[in-house]
Amino acid sequence: VDEFELIQRYFVRDDEVASVITGIGDDGAVIRPPMGKDLVAVVDTLIEGVHFPFGVDSDSADYIAHRAVAVNLSDIAAMGADPRWMTLALTLNEVDSHWLHSFAGGLHAIAADHGMRLVGGDTTKGDNIVVTVQVMGVVGPGEMMLRSGAQVGDTIYVSGELGDAAAGLHLIEHPQDEYLEPHGYLMSRFEYPAARLSLGSALAGRASAAIDISDGLYADLNKLLTASGVGADISLDKVPLSIALRTSFDSEQQRQFALCGGDDYELCFTSSNPLPDEINGVPLTAIGEVTKGPGIVCRDGGEVVPFTDSGYRHFQ
Ligand code: ADP
Ligand code: MG
Repeated sequence: VDEFELIQRYFVRDDEVASVITGIGDDGAVIRPPMGKDLVAVVDTLIEGVHFPFGVDSDSADYIAHRAVAVNLSDIAAMGADPRWMTLALTLNEVDSHWLHSFAGGLHAIAADHGMRLVGGDTTKGDNIVVTVQVMGVVGPGEMMLRSGAQVGDTIYVSGELGDAAAGLHLIEHPQDEYLEPHGYLMSRFEYPAARLSLGSALAGRASAAIDISDGLYADLNKLLTASGVGADISLDKVPLSIALRTSFDSEQQRQFALCGGDDYELCFTSSNPLPDEINGVPLTAIGEVTKGPGIVCRDGGEVVPFTDSGYRHFQ
């Protein structure tokens, strides 16, 4: 198959949608955002051998597509926006129809789940598989959540439970002799991250600052604090941990996964007003307070404890 056929076969969908004036097939996509909304654009790249293993089985390629879209949706959620359109830049070393079938299936499934349209892209040949997805979304005028809005005295919250994805990745990389049910749960939390979209849009206009947790709570909270020019005082013992994590690892490892492990795609945000324990079914936990800073003071049982970060960075 040539490139044109490949795009037609796997990526074009016939159904039309009013906001897409021109989709796949021309030099550029033309989209018409709803009047008066602000457009939010995010992009993320997954590289074979870096973000997913070499030689992923053809039948499992859907998980690469799911992940490539989900990490973008998490950024969209952290901005408080609703996802609408996406583009895909795909580099492949061969045309494997099983792989493409599975990949396109995963891509269209997560797009459909969120009412999103694939409006264009680029297809190239290269040594390794590289998947770049760009998602565009909309948010009410001026209602986006930024990293830079945290104020001294705000409460710091996290959504869901942290550390599961890092624990899941650890289990995938270090297969255990015995398969335990909590292990399956932890691995699926790594493989199929779910972005906190409905929470994100509910927080828009309520949270003073927000970031999604992709590199670990400690590193990502630090980015939010730096952008806001403030510090924090957090209680490590308040960081929410799943039963699966607590029954599978010792307390030292649990904390390491929850604070320094990446890929949770939960939200960390600040608010000057108290928030409920749950929004749209997502549990929220207060873990500390914004201070003048600089830096993060960590506590355990009220006592200040030393803590050093080992979150993931690409250029270290
Ligand atoms: P051009 O040479 O003008 O960049 P291409 O031949 O690369 O155009 O692409 C043809 C059309 O197919 C364009 O509309 C482009 O957006 C779309 N397209 C190419 N690759 C993909 C892909 N992987 N997914 C979705 N759309 C794609
Ligand atoms: Mg062109």
